[in-house]
Amino acid sequence: MTAPDRRFVADADAHRRDQPRHCPGCAGSLELTSEFWEGDERRFYCWCAACGWTGEITPTGGTATGHEPEH
Ligand SMILES: [Zn+2]
Repeated sequence: MTAPDRRFVADADAHRRDQPRHCPGCAGSLELTSEFWEGDERRFYCWCAACGWTGEITPTGGTATGHEPEH
């Protein structure tokens, strides 16, 4: 085994920080169905079991940008 991939670790941290947790419709708990990148934007596709809301959430702000530094 080699050292953990730095990008993966950073991505996991960003995931925990950026993952939407509350439904914009009813403020219930969101289920994260998928997470993907579109260009440089991270997007979360979420589903709310409480009210049936589904949608994409794109975190905004600097926290969503995190590219592997040059090395
Ligand atoms: Zn809801």
